[in-house]
Amino acid sequence: MRASQFHISTKKEAPADAEIVSQKLMLRSGMIRKEAAGIYNYMPLAVRTLKKVEKIIREEMDKAGSLEIVMPMVQPAELWMESGRWQKYGDELLRLKDRHGREFALQPTSEEVVTDIARQEINSWKQMPVNFYQIQTKFRDERRPRFGLMRGREFVMKDAYSFDRNEEQAVKSYKLMFDAYCRIFDRLGLVYRPVRADSGAIGGNLSQEFQVIADTGEDVIVYCPESDFAANIELAPALSVIEKRAEPTEEMKMVATPGKEKCETMTEYLGLPLTKSVKAIVLAIDRKDEEGKELPAKVVLLLVRGDHSLNEVKAGKVDILKGGYRFATDDEIMNTFGSKPGYLGPVGLSKDVPVIADLTVANMSDFVVGANKEGYHITGVNWGRDLPEPTQVVDLRNVVEGDMSPDGKGKLTMQRGIEVGHVFYLGDRYSKPLKATFLDENGKPQIIHMGCYGIGVSRLLGAAIEQNHDDKGIIWPKAMAPFEVVICALGYDKSEAVREKADTLYNKLKADGVDVILDDRGLRPGVMFADWELIGVPHRITIGDKGLKDGVVEYTNRRDMNTEKVSYEQVEELLK
Ligand code: ATP
Ligand code: MG
Ligand code: MG
Ligand code: MG
Repeated sequence: MRASQFHISTKKEAPADAEIVSQKLMLRSGMIRKEAAGIYNYMPLAVRTLKKVEKIIREEMDKAGSLEIVMPMVQPAELWMESGRWQKYGDELLRLKDRHGREFALQPTSEEVVTDIARQEINSWKQMPVNFYQIQTKFRDERRPRFGLMRGREFVMKDAYSFDRNEEQAVKSYKLMFDAYCRIFDRLGLVYRPVRADSGAIGGNLSQEFQVIADTGEDVIVYCPESDFAANIELAPALSVIEKRAEPTEEMKMVATPGKEKCETMTEYLGLPLTKSVKAIVLAIDRKDEEGKELPAKVVLLLVRGDHSLNEVKAGKVDILKGGYRFATDDEIMNTFGSKPGYLGPVGLSKDVPVIADLTVANMSDFVVGANKEGYHITGVNWGRDLPEPTQVVDLRNVVEGDMSPDGKGKLTMQRGIEVGHVFYLGDRYSKPLKATFLDENGKPQIIHMGCYGIGVSRLLGAAIEQNHDDKGIIWPKAMAPFEVVICALGYDKSEAVREKADTLYNKLKADGVDVILDDRGLRPGVMFADWELIGVPHRITIGDKGLKDGVVEYTNRRDMNTEKVSYEQVEELLK
């Protein structure tokens, strides 16, 4: 490409409403031009970068076995009604009517349409796993479109959807996509971090975001440098809790010694199994109010080591491993236990009987599973294998820098990030309401298991610039640069020698497949350099009469702005 034939339209100043650096630089370098709030023209420079990003995405998606399709931008409302999202999606869904008054939506994402494809196309377990992707324009009527391409209303997304015959296979498909995403962001040359994300109404923890680390990021992430724990703290309120693995206490560990018998356990509530030496005591504690009126008793379940009488419990001689309680009336106690459990009399629960864990027991009858019966004890318990690891719950919204990581492996660090990708296990969220089924090996109809995987293709441009810029302009990672090399020919219009050398080098590089642009505009050096520093081309070769006299040209690396004189012959070596 010759600059004289390309459209270069740089500006000294960004528009006053531009807020963050990537937005300013994209506008100043002439990559994008605004048409309306959150709606942009992609100019030739931006399209070159966009195509490079898309090429890498396509290569990695294809390699991972995903098949490219294109789904309609305008999607029928009926499908969105079937999934329930016509009502639920809210104002971000842009709705329109055709001339017959039929309702449509501009796709903000394509789960409905792709599930419709699946229910028509997939009939047998033999057709799965299968994964479809598209790189398509999306429209979301964002409440606050801003930051240029970062939060547009119209934007480009790569969205993929996997279809599997069961959960196990679906998880494999999810992992394939996760790995493909890592390769994509590695190849793009970005610093990023995968984090646990909100899995919305679906639940489960198979939802991860890829966050490009940048101070201007809208998301806050916490991670533990000592382990692989990382999460987005924005998790929706109901899901803002994350399970924390609690270390089994010394007592618990002692319980988990190998043994022989294994019977029923009644102690899931307590997360502590009964063994020959660990027994449960069910007791009730009378309670009276200040005027001496009887209140519902506190029913306490205590796990103790060894056999003990009530008196010993009362006297505090008992090694209580764990306990929980709830309130119950005398009638309830009678109905559940058939008789009154041992009464302790009016004692203070935490004062007189140490309660190690407070829990809410949902059902009184859960107290009577014969825990103290001979042979109903459990030994040889292995945490994680026989019983769930004891867990605690952490509310991530309240976490501050330096708090202990939920995995207990180190302290938490906070960072800001830009969500550039999201992988999500959907299960039957869409396939069930849309009745996307297939026949299994036994000819029985089953519901398809799905996953969805998005990449913010146009957002990536902004994210890359947020991470790679200086006061002169953009510093593109090589893989994303609109051009890899610029030859700045000083006095191209005047000097025969410069013209000859520059053309020869340009043609040579082009023939070698180097993505090169020759600046043949005959501009003053300062103006020409400022353009390419703003546009962010990684390598610059300057050819001028002065250097040519000494047999040298100049090479400048955009990132460190180091300039060195090199022989004309050395140039190609340098660009490798
Ligand atoms: P955000 O939290 O930033 O609103 P999202 O969680 O709503 O994003 P997803 O539904 O997960 O977005 O869409 C997949 C990807 O599309 C996102 O990871 C993001 O990179 C990109 N994306 C989402 N909304 C926009 C937007 N308004 N402009 C540009 N890219 C977007
Ligand atoms: Mg959003
Ligand atoms: Mg998000
Ligand atoms: Mg998301």
